[in-house]
Amino acid sequence: MYIGCHLSISKGFEAAVKQAIEIGGNTFQFFTRNPRGGNVKKLDLKDLQKADQLCKEHNFASLLAHAPYTYNFASDKDKAWGFAKYRLRDDLDRLQHLDSCKYLVMHPGNHVKRGMEFGIERISEGINEVLQGDENTMILLETMSGKGTEVGYKFEQLKEIINRIEYKELIGVCFDTCHTYSAGYDIVNDLDGVLNEFDQIIGLDKLKAIHLNDSNHKLGSEKDRHARIGEGTLGLDNILDFINHPKVQGIPLFLETPNELDGYAKEIKVLKYGYSL
Ligand code: FE
Ligand code: FE
Ligand code: ZN
Repeated sequence: MYIGCHLSISKGFEAAVKQAIEIGGNTFQFFTRNPRGGNVKKLDLKDLQKADQLCKEHNFASLLAHAPYTYNFASDKDKAWGFAKYRLRDDLDRLQHLDSCKYLVMHPGNHVKRGMEFGIERISEGINEVLQGDENTMILLETMSGKGTEVGYKFEQLKEIINRIEYKELIGVCFDTCHTYSAGYDIVNDLDGVLNEFDQIIGLDKLKAIHLNDSNHKLGSEKDRHARIGEGTLGLDNILDFINHPKVQGIPLFLETPNELDGYAKEIKVLKYGYSL
């Protein structure tokens, strides 16, 4: 099983890998820059090499980079749209120096008042402008909860974006259990059905990462509030059923639950052993 959580890289990549190992993980997620989308430090190539080495030694699954929430590829404002493209290009350039990270997840965007069709079109156009085809990083679109004017809370919407991407081998999906449940996919009572639907519409070959979160809200609430594993509307048993489902075996799991390190360590242990007191 590949499992990790969201970690800060403020002390460098090697330090984050060590932290991941300490809490029993074998991968982790990090923000490419602070979540507000600001400037970044110059890359410390020595640190990246050490991190790569350590990941290899410990048989890590690919790390997962997460784009800041401020990138809005669906925006009709040229400045916001340009900002998203410029920063994503920069993120991809930086990731080329980190072999242990093959995936970058991003929220597709918010169409604000322009409608879903506009959003889908705008997001794909933006991604097509950014991708050059020679990247070793795949962009993963995250399944969203449907709050506000989010694009990408229905599998069909993600598929519509993917259909329009020129370099198909560079686009995939990250399945967020909290978001998907909030968006109305009943992974509690009909997990087989939801995964079949995902497979038929998007294709399970596109599923490269899972954000494993419990949720504070009920099915179809279109709200985005993560809960600790076993403390939300999904519950531990259903989360264990999810991670043990044959269709998601081998896909790395990333916890984004409200926790400090010790809380993550505990969740990783519970999920690895499939048991909790
Ligand atoms: Fe996310
Ligand atoms: Fe997520
Ligand atoms: Zn969320």
